[in-house]
Amino acid sequence: MGQHGSDPWCPIGSVVGVTEPAITYLDHAASTPVRAEAVEAMLPYLSELYANPSGSHRFARRARQAVDEARDTVARVVGCHPNEVVFTGCGTESDNMAIVGAIARRGGIAVCPAVEHHAVLHVVEQLGDQGRVVGVDEFGRVDLEKLADTLDATPDVSIVSVMAVNNEVGTITDVAAVARVVRRHAPDALLHTDAVQSACWLDLRDITPHVDLLSLSAHKFGGPKGVGVLVERGGPKVDALIVGGGQERERRSGTHNTPGIVAAAVALDLTDGERDHENARLSVLRDQLVADLRHRLEGVTETVPAAHKVAGSAHVCVSGIESEALLFLLDEADVCASAASACASGAMEPSHVLAAMGVDRSTALGALRLTLGHTTTPADVERAVDVIGASVDRLRRGPRSTPAAPAPSAPIVSTS
Ligand code: PLP
Repeated sequence: MGQHGSDPWCPIGSVVGVTEPAITYLDHAASTPVRAEAVEAMLPYLSELYANPSGSHRFARRARQAVDEARDTVARVVGCHPNEVVFTGCGTESDNMAIVGAIARRGGIAVCPAVEHHAVLHVVEQLGDQGRVVGVDEFGRVDLEKLADTLDATPDVSIVSVMAVNNEVGTITDVAAVARVVRRHAPDALLHTDAVQSACWLDLRDITPHVDLLSLSAHKFGGPKGVGVLVERGGPKVDALIVGGGQERERRSGTHNTPGIVAAAVALDLTDGERDHENARLSVLRDQLVADLRHRLEGVTETVPAAHKVAGSAHVCVSGIESEALLFLLDEADVCASAASACASGAMEPSHVLAAMGVDRSTALGALRLTLGHTTTPADVERAVDVIGASVDRLRRGPRSTPAAPAPSAPIVSTS
């Protein structure tokens, strides 16, 4: 990526000759390009090594060995025992299993901050009387005093779920500080962290010791879609969500996705090895992106200061425009970005994250999330600034210079 030739579909020279459009891809928080090494690692398990890893013959044992080795790798990078790693079908499933499984096993109340991904927030909200949602500060960090008050006022808390990195604005939560509050004010509660957006930026070994449960998703760190991990420290803590054949030591039934699991481990290992370098490289590019946008355009505010967020996140609010129209123009120019406003009954609604942070409605409606990752180059940043600058100018000039807006029948749902 980074180069934008006349043919929008050009080979990127991967092992399988996959083609990819010459787009400017600044949507790594939604999904990351799969690493070539991960694709290469999974190929044998998509072709000749197709046996079910749960089988009893030698052929099956080869697949089983690959899953076990992947489990060892994940455990090493996460900082846990291999037996604590449960492979699931996605990050959403891991989050659901943590919360639904805790309530199923222990009853009681689930607590989470208002800025969680919907894979957590909707589960807690759907619990009705058994769910509590806690407020956050201006950067989207859970308010520790409010958390303590909620835990004090709620005798029967089963699980507290607090994300390590916010998917929309990139804010980092001090999970150790959250753990201190939870252990003090609800000593019997489980602590879960949704670390789906963390693997590229934070050393998971610093987070894992503070929690009971931790969720990951492979497609957020250069692995394939459809592979999640739930770490259950100290053995099974919650009921299984999916029952059947008893795979994953009865924790998660369903035939193992051997190719996906193998590729996920390769991607996680690479990500772990490159993290320090990528944090340094991408924070420079991210800062450049925000500075250049602010130089090019008036009315651009950075939603969360760089010191509080991960290196790949550049969330801004652009005054005088609506994100939906901007994203439409960016899409036409092959710049991939996102926002998290939702079109409810024909009217734009700001994202639940920005609303919880107290960002005013009109500012929030101009939200733009640009997220960088392992394929991002300086040329991507340069081109994004040019295209965003021209698109915002066009929108601010008014409707006659703007193409018809997309039909409101296709709402932009939550930012993944
Ligand atoms: N949690 C967070 C913070 C996310 O960003 C996502 C991404 O969509 C998920 C959970 C869900 O992960 P998955 O896409 O693997 O279901």
